[in-house]
Amino acid sequence: MIRVWLAAVVLLGAVDASAYVQSRTKKAEALTEWNTRLITYRINEVGSDDMDFDTLVAQVALSFAPWLEQSCVEMEVVYEGPTAHGADPEKEIGYDKVNVVVFREQEALWLHDENAVAVTTVSFCEGKGGVCDRAGEIIDADIEVNGAFPFAAGDITPRARFDLRNTLTHEVGHLLGFDHTPEEDATMYASAGPGENNKRTLARDDILAYCEIYATIFAEEPVDEGCVAAPGRAPSGGWLVGLGLLGLAALRRRR
Ligand SMILES: [Zn+2]
Repeated sequence: MIRVWLAAVVLLGAVDASAYVQSRTKKAEALTEWNTRLITYRINEVGSDDMDFDTLVAQVALSFAPWLEQSCVEMEVVYEGPTAHGADPEKEIGYDKVNVVVFREQEALWLHDENAVAVTTVSFCEGKGGVCDRAGEIIDADIEVNGAFPFAAGDITPRARFDLRNTLTHEVGHLLGFDHTPEEDATMYASAGPGENNKRTLARDDILAYCEIYATIFAEEPVDEGCVAAPGRAPSGGWLVGLGLLGLAALRRRR
């Protein structure tokens, strides 16, 4: 998909155009975005081994802030408190109408690549119908943080630890429907190293993505929904929920 975009830029001759990439649904290839400007989330009650729960709550809020402070979009994000179902991934990942931020401190509960610092699972509609007005509408997003990595929450990030805001500001970008960008200085660049905290601050590329996509509601034309009537997983109403997984990869392999 990145390759396709680069080709388009060359054709347009737009040398300094933005590089950001909007995620797409698996089947219909529809661009993903929220059809609301009010997003709520919870934090898994188990918390993190690396910081107390209040610090974690503050860090998550600070990770939404760089996006929300952009004046081009009136987005509101509300923290609705901790979850109350323990650490079971089955109970919180996927479309359950609760967006959750959860640390996976137990290795057995980390079901993703071991080099991923964090992974965001985005649920979206492959076609319109049911709860969705359009294909690509995001209806749930869950952020999992890999507890195998040592995280830090202070303003100054120790060289051997991963800055939680650096990680979560990136994951919030996935929650909002953005894929990885080829721009290395951007928050939505695909990898991060220990000690890094530049992703706490949005780059021009990230701001362009957010402002261009969320300044209007569903600017994109709806895609043909003929290809989404897949049997089997469609809930009543014939709409199909797809899942997109995107993570932040560690630059250095953990021991
Ligand atoms: Zn990522």
